[in-house]
Amino acid sequence: MLTTSSSGKIRILPGDVVSRIAAGEVVERPAAVVKELIENSVDAQSRTITVEIKDGGLASIRVTDDGEGMSRADAPQAFERHATSKLRSDQDLWSIRSMGFRGEALPSIASVSNVRLFTAMQADSVGTELQMRGGATPQVLDAPPIVGTRIEVTDLFRNQPARKKFLKSVPTESSHITRVVQQAALAWPGVHFKLISNGQETLNYPAVGTDRDRIGQVYPRFMLDQTVPVEAGQPGARLSGVIVDPNHAKASRIPQELFVNRRPVRSPAVSHAIAEGYDSFLPKGQSPLFVLFLEIDPDRVDVNVHPSKREVRFAEQEAIHQLVRRAVRQALSRNETVTGEPVVSRGTSQSIAGTELSRSWFPAQATSPPEGAAQTGPRNVSSVPPGAADQLTFVNEAAEPYVQVSSSEVMALGQLHHTYLVVQVGSSLTILDQHTVHERVLFERLYRAWVARGMASQPLLIPESVELSAPQAALLQRYQSDLEKLGLELEPFGMAAVLVRSVPLGIGAIDAPAFLQDLLEDLSLWGQASSLEERVRPVLASLACHSAVRAGRLMGLPEIQQLTEDWLAEGKIQTCPHGRRTVFQLTEGELEKLFGRVGW
Ligand code: ADP
Ligand code: MG
Repeated sequence: MLTTSSSGKIRILPGDVVSRIAAGEVVERPAAVVKELIENSVDAQSRTITVEIKDGGLASIRVTDDGEGMSRADAPQAFERHATSKLRSDQDLWSIRSMGFRGEALPSIASVSNVRLFTAMQADSVGTELQMRGGATPQVLDAPPIVGTRIEVTDLFRNQPARKKFLKSVPTESSHITRVVQQAALAWPGVHFKLISNGQETLNYPAVGTDRDRIGQVYPRFMLDQTVPVEAGQPGARLSGVIVDPNHAKASRIPQELFVNRRPVRSPAVSHAIAEGYDSFLPKGQSPLFVLFLEIDPDRVDVNVHPSKREVRFAEQEAIHQLVRRAVRQALSRNETVTGEPVVSRGTSQSIAGTELSRSWFPAQATSPPEGAAQTGPRNVSSVPPGAADQLTFVNEAAEPYVQVSSSEVMALGQLHHTYLVVQVGSSLTILDQHTVHERVLFERLYRAWVARGMASQPLLIPESVELSAPQAALLQRYQSDLEKLGLELEPFGMAAVLVRSVPLGIGAIDAPAFLQDLLEDLSLWGQASSLEERVRPVLASLACHSAVRAGRLMGLPEIQQLTEDWLAEGKIQTCPHGRRTVFQLTEGELEKLFGRVGW
């Protein structure tokens, strides 16, 4: 009870009130309880963690592990506020390697529910049982010496009617718990996870040896043929995982999973870097999908930003941003150039129209345990490997090699509607949009030249003058010297006109008035750009767009042959720099299926 004395109005809150306030932050819903209990089990080096829930956790939550357990003395201690075995000093706070460290979860959970705990350590001949009601002092009893710990949480939010009102339906709470278990499973592939909901096994992920295998259990479809691997490092940081092949991107945002030192987190900085890495590889309106693991020296990342540990802060945000962006870009380029097979054809269930790539992204349930699953302990997975520093590969991402294509791979067949090129590439029927494909080729060349600081310019035979408004002319003048570095020479011509004197080498003819309109739009955004790259790419894209061959122009077979070879050499990218499609392909296999030749 709080009272105000005559001497002042400030009072220290009673302990149980403090606990319940803290609980409000840590335990927002049943899934948060599950998350905390799983983290404790992981920290206790468990190999198998079983989560059982009734009615979305609202009726009960039970987590059983086979970890190190607690002693008779430690077990009640674990329910004291700020009691932890994981942090000894302030110093440790800057190098946290365990999932927990605040010592808040168990007391918070216990203060808003009834808790029963069974635990024993390996050598114990008798175990310990604790019973607590609403955070009251635990009752300690003898129990059978089980291996590890089992915690049962019932009557959650018993003394919190307000909180209870905010909870959603049983299916909603269940799905949150499913997410939590899946994220834990992704973070700890060496641990066997099970989820049992109202007596039904809904998830079962036996231990596996690699992240990739675990991703395959959680998102089988995602793994099959729609992703490219990401692997990159720099001193003190390493990024690995998979990202969606742009050709299979969807409007959906599942999965978008980021783990920093094995914690599922949200990071606007990393999301932004991923989006930038995809850049124009991704068709408009589609989201990058990814399961990525970032491992960082623990003293360079702050996980103590929020009680739920969902947010992180990086000491070197800019460096992390760069690592992620380059890793994504590198993975995508590698994907296009190295695999040597048409990307469009990789799937099997794609419809012929090429528009309905209707495979489900939703996590599937793994029910049959594979034989001999590897036993990788959770600790092994999280550490930054000692060789990580050697893996800095992206000194110059532009030095993407131009891949020599053997022309026997390409046979130009003709042109359709003066717009589409019909070509046999390898054994696939390939239809290219002549404008977007040329645009992509020009863009890649310009971009490579720019990054290699090799942007040469070529004077136009007849400099073209374009009328502008006075503010437009002023904007161009302001950036005149920057544009010159891109090989673009523009000269003011009277008060409200500009003369295009030269353009970057290799782009040929340009539609100057249309280009200048786009350029002005690009320049108007330069003020907000966060990097030089962000300024330059749109300008190069505009250049490419307005010098690329237009739809409607007749193209001869040698031209078609050349453009197709150039497109292959530049990495068979499936979109133009503005995100429009460049290509549609049918493999021999798809044609066979289409004509019912399969099995002949
Ligand atoms: P934290 O995880 O931040 O240390 P918790 O309140 O979650 O705080 O847990 C308190 C302590 O209880 C832990 O530090 C650990 O020593 C012990 N503990 C909790 N759960 C388990 C478990 N499943 N197995 C073994 N020890 C546990
Ligand atoms: Mg904990």
